[in-house]
Amino acid sequence: MLSPRFQAVSQAMATQARRAATENERGLLADKIFGMNVFGLDEMRRRLPKNVFEELEQTMEEGHRLNPAIADVVANAMKDWAIEHQATHYTHWFQPMTGLTAEKHDAFLTPSQKGHVISSFSGKMLISSEPDASSFPSGGLRSTFEARGYTAWDPTVPVFIIDEPYGATLHIPSFFFAFSGEALDRKIPLERSIEVLSKAALRILRLFGNTEAHFVHPMVGAEQEYFLVDSHLAALRPDLLLCGRTLLGAPAAKGQEMEDHYFGAIPERVLAFMQDLEHELLKLGIPCKTRHNEVAPGQFELAPVFEEANMACDHNMLTMNMMRHIAPRHGFLCLLHEKPFAGVNGSGKHNNWSLVDSQGQNLLNPGKTPKDNAQFLVFLAAVLAAVHKHSPLLRLGTIGAGNDHRLGANEAPPAILSVYVGEELNDVIEGIIDPAYARHENKKPMEIGVSSLPALPVDQSDRNRTSPFAFTGNKFEFRAVGSSQSIAPANIALNAAVAASLDEIANTLEAAVASGKTITTALQELLPETFSRHKDILFNGNGYTQEWVEEAKRRGLPNDDNTVSALDRYNDPQVTQVFVSQGIFSEREMQARQEILYANYAKTLIIEGQQLLELGKTRVLPVANGALDQAATRLQHLTETLGKDACQQEQLELTELHGKVQALRQSLKDLVAALAASRAEAEARRQAKVAKQHLLPAMQAVRACCDKLEEDLEDSSWPLPKYSELLWIH
Ligand code: ADP
Ligand code: MG
Repeated sequence: MLSPRFQAVSQAMATQARRAATENERGLLADKIFGMNVFGLDEMRRRLPKNVFEELEQTMEEGHRLNPAIADVVANAMKDWAIEHQATHYTHWFQPMTGLTAEKHDAFLTPSQKGHVISSFSGKMLISSEPDASSFPSGGLRSTFEARGYTAWDPTVPVFIIDEPYGATLHIPSFFFAFSGEALDRKIPLERSIEVLSKAALRILRLFGNTEAHFVHPMVGAEQEYFLVDSHLAALRPDLLLCGRTLLGAPAAKGQEMEDHYFGAIPERVLAFMQDLEHELLKLGIPCKTRHNEVAPGQFELAPVFEEANMACDHNMLTMNMMRHIAPRHGFLCLLHEKPFAGVNGSGKHNNWSLVDSQGQNLLNPGKTPKDNAQFLVFLAAVLAAVHKHSPLLRLGTIGAGNDHRLGANEAPPAILSVYVGEELNDVIEGIIDPAYARHENKKPMEIGVSSLPALPVDQSDRNRTSPFAFTGNKFEFRAVGSSQSIAPANIALNAAVAASLDEIANTLEAAVASGKTITTALQELLPETFSRHKDILFNGNGYTQEWVEEAKRRGLPNDDNTVSALDRYNDPQVTQVFVSQGIFSEREMQARQEILYANYAKTLIIEGQQLLELGKTRVLPVANGALDQAATRLQHLTETLGKDACQQEQLELTELHGKVQALRQSLKDLVAALAASRAEAEARRQAKVAKQHLLPAMQAVRACCDKLEEDLEDSSWPLPKYSELLWIH
């Protein structure tokens, strides 16, 4: 009989691409299905009285709370629409600090007289609800006896329906907060950061004489990387099921060295998954645009068209949910973990970010006129200053136990933040700092506000893929975000940091103008000074090299290459100042978050450690012991028939194998001790530190022992699907 592993391999090989069951399931043209499960503006206009619609539209645009006076009318229209779409339930859909989304469904029904029920949904139910939310992480913001948490519709994002074979549910994208009003989620601080950024950016626009724009939105396009593993194989890997990554596994003979997977032909089964996924996402109004194979075998990417940051954040959470949800239909497990496999690329999420005003003008687009260029340079300077001054704060937007395996560890982008602007823009900046530079380089000296920038190619082809933060023509690409993470923390940090530097610049410019200077003169003073102060953040070279690590140190750029040291920065006065003074977090909210994140890190490591211990003890060790017994029996047999002298090689091999098994036993003992030491710590920060210092290396040691044995032991005895199978069967 085949071993479970070989059975799984043959089942995986035999699995065919899933065919669409109905005509409806086949990718209908995007314009037919796009947003059909969203209660969007068109639907609202059709169903609401004109005055109610206009007020709601304004609320959505400006992000106010919904006026209770119109809530009932809106709720009623929403309910009718939802019921027409076969929805039976509604839920406030929110994003607690678990890093995932949460939902609790309630039926639309209310009992009426004589044993009947009616469908009901009031404005009050729409605006807010009070889930029994005592189990969500609050970092001490709620004590258990006062466990109430509230959810409230975020009216800037329309409600939508998740449609399943047995029924549909109306989802109301919601904020989640404590009785005291403090944020328990990531949407509230994101909204606050967007508001603060908008105000600061408007100050700059006003200085340039723009009186029209009434808000500025950060726009975000989050490219999502992921792995797919065949379900039959994944079922034999509890580490994949529970931790989302392989805790052990020797490298396959072939990984990504041939670079033949990147942009390669998409396997049929995978393509079917992608099409199914996109179909569902389009119905939810998520503008998926690009799909392709990524660098590592078994790795893929989905990129949507960019949207307003809060919408992009919700949509990315939904995309991840849908990926996990739809993969099993196609016989896959979808891995969103940052480093599911050692030795090949991990997954990130490129957070493309720009600023667009209410007139649709992208403020990061180098302009055609001297005035537009000068304005572009101010925003560029603000971003450079923000990344330079607030690098620890931005690093906090990318922390997590999973992402630690990428940033500054096994692969890039590095944990050191630097900005890539490309050669041309670099020359422009150098020329502004020092006119002599421009003459020396045989280029026209820059006179801000007078000359125009050389035309910058909007699509720069020689992008630096090693840079954690790159300017790509008309947007910045923050590449350090982890694939499994919400993009909210990264964008909160980015918005907060840029808002702070825009405000600082606005203060200087406003004062100069008030003192009678022209804006051009003020800029000619401000820009060289700002660029020169922050040019250390610019780096166009290879971010993966050791030389850069040393050079960055000389420049004083922080290098927090793990979550624990990055999290300690929550206490930096500058971090607190940017968040608290701008009203994005209160000090209590920050403390709570820091606490939750330490705990989350420690728990992740403890779960992984426990899982690895189990795998080592119950799967690898028995197989290794079996091999040892077999080798001993064989040696005994050979010694008896051939004599001891003839069996020296076998004796040596046995001793070697024995050594490896002993090493595994010892490493498992050390792991038990490290787990105990981590569990013994009651306080989150201490626990995170101990886990990092003791548990992580103990796990690495166990893994090394297991991987050596995997390479040596007879293949059919190995119980766990190997890298060659997990990575290459699709
Ligand atoms: P890549 O980085 O893979 O070469 P693209 O240049 O096609 O990809 O863009 C990647 C992502 O950047 C997409 O999600 C796209 O919508 C987004 N994007 C493009 N322009 C902007 C912009 N102005 N602001 C924010 N995101 C943008
Ligand atoms: Mg990209």
